[in-house]
Amino acid sequence: MSISSPFPGEMRPTFDRQILAVLESIDDAFLILDTRWHYTYVNRVAERILQKKREDLLGRNVWEVFPEAVGTTFWKNAYKAVDTQRVIEFEDFYAPFLRWFHVHMYPSEVGIAVSFQDVTDRKERERENQEHCLQLAALVESADDAIIGKTREGIITTWNKAAERMYGYSAKEAVGQSITLIFPPNRQDEFVRIMEQILRGERVDHFETTRVRKDGTTFPVSVTISPIHDNDDQIIGASAIAHDITERKRAEEQGHFLAEVSKVLSSTLDYQEMLANISRQVVPQLADWFAVDLVDAQGNFELIELAHKDPEQVRWARALRERYPVDPNASTGAPQVVRTGQCEHYPEITDEMLVAAAKNEEELAIARQNGYTSIVIVPLIARGKTLGVMTFVATESGRRYDKRDVALAEEVGRRAGVALDNARLHREVGQARDQLDIILQGVADGIIVYGPDGQIIYANEAAVQMTGYASVQDMLRTLPPHGIVSGYEIVDEQGQSIPHSQLPHVRVFAGEREAQATIGYTRVGTGQAQRWSLVKSRPVYDEREEIAMVVTIIHDVTARVQFERRKDEFISMTSHELKTPVTSLKGFTNVLQRRLIKLADEQGLHYLTRIDAQLNKLTKLISDLLDVSRMQTGKLAFQIESFDLDTLVHETVENVQAATTTHQFFVEGRTDARMFGDKDRLGQVFINLLTNAVKYSPRANKVLVHLSRDHEQAIVSVQDSGIGIDEAHQQNIFERFYQITDPEEKTYPGLGIGLYISREIVERHHGRIEVHSRKGEGATFSVILPLPQKETEQTCD
Ligand code: ADP
Repeated sequence: MSISSPFPGEMRPTFDRQILAVLESIDDAFLILDTRWHYTYVNRVAERILQKKREDLLGRNVWEVFPEAVGTTFWKNAYKAVDTQRVIEFEDFYAPFLRWFHVHMYPSEVGIAVSFQDVTDRKERERENQEHCLQLAALVESADDAIIGKTREGIITTWNKAAERMYGYSAKEAVGQSITLIFPPNRQDEFVRIMEQILRGERVDHFETTRVRKDGTTFPVSVTISPIHDNDDQIIGASAIAHDITERKRAEEQGHFLAEVSKVLSSTLDYQEMLANISRQVVPQLADWFAVDLVDAQGNFELIELAHKDPEQVRWARALRERYPVDPNASTGAPQVVRTGQCEHYPEITDEMLVAAAKNEEELAIARQNGYTSIVIVPLIARGKTLGVMTFVATESGRRYDKRDVALAEEVGRRAGVALDNARLHREVGQARDQLDIILQGVADGIIVYGPDGQIIYANEAAVQMTGYASVQDMLRTLPPHGIVSGYEIVDEQGQSIPHSQLPHVRVFAGEREAQATIGYTRVGTGQAQRWSLVKSRPVYDEREEIAMVVTIIHDVTARVQFERRKDEFISMTSHELKTPVTSLKGFTNVLQRRLIKLADEQGLHYLTRIDAQLNKLTKLISDLLDVSRMQTGKLAFQIESFDLDTLVHETVENVQAATTTHQFFVEGRTDARMFGDKDRLGQVFINLLTNAVKYSPRANKVLVHLSRDHEQAIVSVQDSGIGIDEAHQQNIFERFYQITDPEEKTYPGLGIGLYISREIVERHHGRIEVHSRKGEGATFSVILPLPQKETEQTCD
């Protein structure tokens, strides 16, 4: 059986030809050089790589064909192989071709065979891979987060720089150890749970937990752990990225702490309670010791709050503080913080500092015993003023306050300062209010304060008693608009019922700046006797000039009103009783006068004239008094007629002139007014004014009467140049029985009723009476009467 040859052409190739054929078919470049470096064989692939035809190479010296190769690794290794007669394998970059080659050099006594492959593509890939790995490694190393690789069993395989920093173990120390190295003892079981999840192919995302450093301290971390797969997708371990969240946790805690502090601060207005509550927040969270000192206007410190977890220690510290009070002049510590309004921060208390601060051995011993580690003193500031200080001290916790702690303490100080200030203001306002209330409750006058809506917001005891309510609360419960007034019958001095709109407080709400009224009131259905009050109301405005409240003062005038009533009755009765005898006296003087004329008794007539003059005065007095009584009871009657005002004035002036020897009257101007009214009553007004002008200008001898008018009114003015009237009295002179008693001036006879009657008469004619005067500069009284409308007749009330 013959086997067919796979080689075409020659059925039995020679061995040489066999070898050549093999060399031609391989993928590697292959060439042979003789001992003189001449090419003796070049295969097909070598031809391609060297980019030369074998005819151009065979028989030629390699170094002549490629002179640029002399001195390269290729050249060196070729010589080395020949010299040592050992096979050399190497990879190198052949610059002229810009390619990488994997080369084998096989030396022999007849020359050297060289096989080589172009490995540029592989080299390129390798380089890229390497670069990628390096980049990745650099990334891992430079990461801020710890990146840790571990096996399925939890053995650490990689450990980056951040892990070194975060946990305190170097990569050398950590790699090969169990990951539980960084698990705190109470969290060892976490490892099992995490790995179970990882082995299920799941990721553990942002898991917040605690880890332990080499030095034993713990800290919060957020860890993300992902499974690592091999090429066959088998889970071979896990990678963990851990982020130290100490700062974030701290910020959260500080935020929470501040929120709690604010809550505590707003929970009470009692500042001692407030500070005690704060200290419960601060100790032990922020400090082992916490103190609050307030400073008074003299700069003295008062320890308001001192807290530590051990009450025994607090007692001891308080006693110590009494023994060593704060020196307000000290250049550091609380006094300095108060002076500057800036906090003081001692991050680390050293023994030298204690030595420097202690005033004596005992103090030093105490300070050392306390074991201070760090102190922060912050000011309590409100409205730009430092009210005191808060001191945060770390001792047994070993804590060292950093900048963030200081910022937090300052914020607590700021918030507490404002809250304390509010509490203080509240207390002061409360005290002032209590004091005021005590005062107002003791006032005999009733005081009622109405809010802007008319609701009673304050009433004192006197008001309660006057109005007959059971209590202040009862009064406060009454509702506007009628409030306490409902249930009362309210009248004025003439016995007329007062409409609600005319009550003083209602008038003030309606816009009057001050309103007063004498009010008689009886509680309906109680049978209580009528009482009288002088009620005055005034508004209190807010900053927008709107009524914030109306204060009403009720002054009981029952006794006075009753007394005046009796007086009025007496006057009315006596003037009536006097009227009859005076009238008959007047009659008898007439009879007597006629007799004496007959007898031509000059002396007797002289006396009789004087008696008559005095009787006239008496008659005027009695009729004035009767008028007053009539006015009081509303019974003053008017006889209405049409008359000429100018004529009336001229006649009256003439009559008064006839009885006056000291003064001269001058009338000027005219009103040309035809009036409707009681001519005699108006004449009575002018007589009053003219006689007053004479009476109150004893040193003058002239009185000026001026008549004028405009479209609507006629004006009659009486001007004297006498003693004048002080402005303070000008409103009162129109009141009943009002007389100015001036110690400097001589007193003038009179009853103080002339102007009262005059005003009443003028007002009943719808007119008004005005006075313009200055003390010592004379007075001008003007009667202003409205002119009658063309068609309608002027009437009197
Ligand atoms: P009398 O009877 O006291 O004059 P009147 O009612 O007429 O009473 O006046 C009241 C008071 O007004 C007087 O007591 C006086 O003090 C003051 N008075 C009135 N008229 C004048 C005046 N022309 N000049 C100064 N004071 C006057």
